[in-house]
Amino acid sequence: MVSQRIKDQLKEETAKIKAQGIIPGLAVIIVGNNPASRSYVNSKKKACELIGYYSREYALPEETTEEELKALVQELNQDDQIHGILVQLPLPKHINEEMVINTIIPEKDVDAFHPANVGKIMIGNFDFLPCTPAGIMELIKESEIDLEGKHCVIIGRSNIVGKPMSMLLLHKNATVTICHSKTKNLKEVCKEADVLVVAVGRPQMVDASYIKEGAVVIDVGINRLSDGRLVGDVDFDSAEKVAGAITPVPGGVGPMTIATLMKNTLTAALKK
Ligand code: NAD
Repeated sequence: MVSQRIKDQLKEETAKIKAQGIIPGLAVIIVGNNPASRSYVNSKKKACELIGYYSREYALPEETTEEELKALVQELNQDDQIHGILVQLPLPKHINEEMVINTIIPEKDVDAFHPANVGKIMIGNFDFLPCTPAGIMELIKESEIDLEGKHCVIIGRSNIVGKPMSMLLLHKNATVTICHSKTKNLKEVCKEADVLVVAVGRPQMVDASYIKEGAVVIDVGINRLSDGRLVGDVDFDSAEKVAGAITPVPGGVGPMTIATLMKNTLTAALKK
């Protein structure tokens, strides 16, 4: 598995820099009791342990105020043991997410959500890449898919997935189309794609009828059904019949997101 290989490499590099007295440190902040957020935070903590990072978790109650959260981030900005700060999203409605993200200093913004890091990604000269899009690029690279001149269609325009994904594909000379909830003829547009990235947040919305024969399909979605099953935004059983390659859920993109976060944490520690 690609994600496991990346984590193994990071473990080796970490052992080397530990010998020089550097221990990469990640602080993860979670506010409230969202079960999906709790499961993501647990996976991140586990990855830190496996690689040998120092990790610290702050599990804050739902009623935490914006000022309290901001004060904690500012404290971590100054903390020499911490190289990366991750605030698990979504935050409770009374907290302004943008304000919190902007409080993290760009050097410790391992999610690459700070406007300074977003701007660098746009220009193509970056320190950190956003975890999910970068994880997807790694999967594409591993599968030896040449993106030059290919038509890549992304469904979803979020700041976390869709928008940065478009930039990374553009940097690889792909022709990129971004679709969203107001796109007309969505199915027809998707059917033109050589590479289709689906990040909608709607369980199994994209089936074979959206996919060109032989296309690469990347399913970013993580949705929990009422029966407890975890499914993507793509109807895997139907889509795999026409796709040339397809990522599964669970597996696929999710583990790559965590592997990239770990990579970014090491980068932050080395830069320090
Ligand atoms: P979001 O809700 O911020 O954005 C969803 C996007 O889909 C929006 O841009 C919206 O315009 C578009 N959309 C909604 N309905 C549509 C429709 N009917 N047709 C076309 N477009 C439509 O979501 P997000 O944060 O980008 O996440 C998307 C999915 O990816 C979610 O399932 C989320 O859980 C998952 N996710 C997975 C990872 C991972 O590591 N695998 C990371 C982040 C998000």
